[in-house]
Amino acid sequence: MKKFGFLILFLILVILFTTITMLPNSENKTAAEAPAKSIDEIASGAKILVLNYHQIGSNFTPLCVPTAIFDEQMAYLKDNGYITITPEELYEGIAGNLVLPERPLLITFDDGYIDNYTNALPVLKKYGMRATIFIVPGFTGNNANYLNWEQLKEMEKNGITIQSHTLNHRALEELPDDEIRAELLNSKLLLEKNLGHSVDFLAYPTGTYNLHIAGIAKDVGYKASFTIKYGNVDRGSNIYALERVPIFQTENTMKNFFERIEYRQSFESLGWIKK
Ligand SMILES: [Zn+2]
Repeated sequence: MKKFGFLILFLILVILFTTITMLPNSENKTAAEAPAKSIDEIASGAKILVLNYHQIGSNFTPLCVPTAIFDEQMAYLKDNGYITITPEELYEGIAGNLVLPERPLLITFDDGYIDNYTNALPVLKKYGMRATIFIVPGFTGNNANYLNWEQLKEMEKNGITIQSHTLNHRALEELPDDEIRAELLNSKLLLEKNLGHSVDFLAYPTGTYNLHIAGIAKDVGYKASFTIKYGNVDRGSNIYALERVPIFQTENTMKNFFERIEYRQSFESLGWIKK
């Protein structure tokens, strides 16, 4: 009798396994097939992935991801149904005014390096992906390492959103209030004047912020601002301290990329997964 019970159990397991393996793999769904998330799902804790890059190219620094690896990362995200959104769509999504895609992705670059135009843009165009660059307008047009106004305008015609990274990239927490205000407001005004559209989003330089600086960002008219605090954005996020996932060049950049976007690293660093 006992043997018979095991046989039944074995058969059930075989049927279950066959059913599961024959189900369509949701990971392989194309973007168009992916169902949109309802506002209720966003309310109940759905996540928005916000990636943070700096340079794309051949420099041997952690902040520079090689172009071929950046291409591989974009291909992976595209193949896995991530749909790129703008900061405005993120804002409206978490406000509950817009239904976001199943896997919303905001790709951001800080500082406005020239390689965002020469190396990153062709890859983004190849995969039909949008991105946002946080620009330091004090560098624009007077430093060959950074994007100039013509390049910024051309990028905006190709799915790139330009937003603010303060006027001169100074360490805000060391500045008096009037200078913090000037850094935040003047970058916004200068970008708006040169690009001809409103600039509503900010990334804090060096990622540092505090509630006081966040208050000034709100006061000068930003709708939301981004940190390098590691995590996803959801409806529980502080709109003036939005989380991002910084992507670095490491000894194994792709492995670390997967760990970072799947939020494994924080557990590993605490010794909960790896010994
Ligand atoms: Zn920066």
